[in-house]
Amino acid sequence: MRVAIIGAGLSGLTAAWEIHYQHPGVEIEIFEAADRIGGKLYTVPFTAGPTDMGAEAYLAIRVDATQFFTQLGLRDELVKPSGLPSLLYFNDAVHEMPRNTVMGIPASGSTVAKLVDIHTQARIDDEADQPGIAWVAGVTEMSLGGLVRARYGDQIVDRLVSVFQGGVFSCISDDLGIRATIPQLAQTFDDMASSGEKVTLSGAVNRILERQKADHTKHAKNYRPQVFGAFRQGYQQLYETLAEQSEATIHIDAFISGVAKKSQGFVLKGAGSGFYDRILFATPAPTTAMLVKDIMPAAEAPLKAVKLASSVVVGMKFASDEGLPDNSGILVATNEPGVKAKAFTFSSKKWPHIGARGGALVRASFGRFGDDEITRWEEDALVDQALDDLRTITGFDGRAAGLDEIYVQRWFGGLPVYSPTHLATVAEIEAVVADTEDVEIAGSFMRGVGVPAVIADARAAAHRLLK
Ligand SMILES: Cc1cc2nc3c(=O)[nH]c(=O)nc-3n(C[C@H](O)[C@H](O)[C@H](O)COP(=O)(O)OP(=O)(O)OC[C@H]3O[C@@H](n4cnc5c(N)ncnc54)[C@H](O)[C@@H]3O)c2cc1C
Repeated sequence: MRVAIIGAGLSGLTAAWEIHYQHPGVEIEIFEAADRIGGKLYTVPFTAGPTDMGAEAYLAIRVDATQFFTQLGLRDELVKPSGLPSLLYFNDAVHEMPRNTVMGIPASGSTVAKLVDIHTQARIDDEADQPGIAWVAGVTEMSLGGLVRARYGDQIVDRLVSVFQGGVFSCISDDLGIRATIPQLAQTFDDMASSGEKVTLSGAVNRILERQKADHTKHAKNYRPQVFGAFRQGYQQLYETLAEQSEATIHIDAFISGVAKKSQGFVLKGAGSGFYDRILFATPAPTTAMLVKDIMPAAEAPLKAVKLASSVVVGMKFASDEGLPDNSGILVATNEPGVKAKAFTFSSKKWPHIGARGGALVRASFGRFGDDEITRWEEDALVDQALDDLRTITGFDGRAAGLDEIYVQRWFGGLPVYSPTHLATVAEIEAVVADTEDVEIAGSFMRGVGVPAVIADARAAAHRLLK
């Protein structure tokens, strides 16, 4: 049997690995438009050591991911973060991150007393007395930012929720769906609605926090779960291992422009030869829409409906880290005047293995959905902006600290937008795929953008394709 996989990002490579693992006799060919594999995983060889310019961490509390990396033989290559806290920046000052929130959403005014005005604190405390949220269990989906704005006001959204979720999804939270991005909150609303309780935001957040506290007390006294992990030599370790162990033939610089179905199998336009028995699309949604239009026309419209967010990462290596705050990074509130960066990761503080290289490594991130003009700026202007913002926010003068090395990575359409209509769109895509023989679709727009979610989705798609 011959299988073609389009796209050699994490989804395509993981699917190839899974197919080979389950069915070693299957002949797999992967077609990748770029001149390298990995997609949004991209490790760049800085002089001081390999450095990720796309994804840089994974959610280590997802044990399935750690188990998978162990299965790949990479267990000893996984590293832990320092645990230094991150900071928030707004109103010309840095602030500590609040504890006891659900993705920045508090249950009480006192939790965020240092971050918002007293009017907002009172709104949070009085929210449970307001009429309940119109929520139908298992059905309702709505804008995350829209709901929090309506219940708590703008400050919580712009200073916290958009900042937390914005980092993950490259969007302000108004553009994100609750069910799509904080499923545990949606589930709690579902539980409240189905038991006939009044549905309130503070009530739901409180319930989630209580549950987390109860889970925590089940463990030993000083138990601190490891939330994030990374690879010692960067994500290249993962994508190169997947490519090698999958034993697939990988064609790079192989842009596929269409797929046709003949009686003998699938034929690719642009690269490849002969017929393929099965095909797996692991390309971003708009590209997949173009590729499937002849073989799965009903999937074209929902795939096209998935919007993408663009961003740019500026990686900077400084000779000295004197004056850089002892923190893992800083998240910037939306619409903060005079500052364009949305976040800084102090990689050399966040990751001890990077800190051990000496000097400082800082990643600045810019751009989000609907506000991405900066992703097209000239490289020099981007680096200047990164240095200026870093100095404004932290006082650290990167020019004086000795800027040894720079890498600018633009991610046009880097992340799918998990909008309030996203889950319905994905359900439509899945229904068409389920009705089509010998074809599967995987990718970060299907079942979560994080590395563990992408891996789980791709493995499941590979299973379905070969069942
Ligand atoms: C800046 C940034 C930071 C991130 N940080 C994190 C993080 O810290 N932790 C985390 O868990 N996740 C993070 N993510 C998310 C994660 O990296 C992605 O969700 C994941 O890597 C996506 O993998 P994928 O294979 O689905 O898609 P992609 O990586 O986009 O792969 C798709 C591949 O298809 C190829 N392709 C496209 N069109 C064609 C065509 N016509 N023919 C052939 N090939 C084609 C592309 O070149 C690409 O290689 C981040 C994402 C970005 C953009």
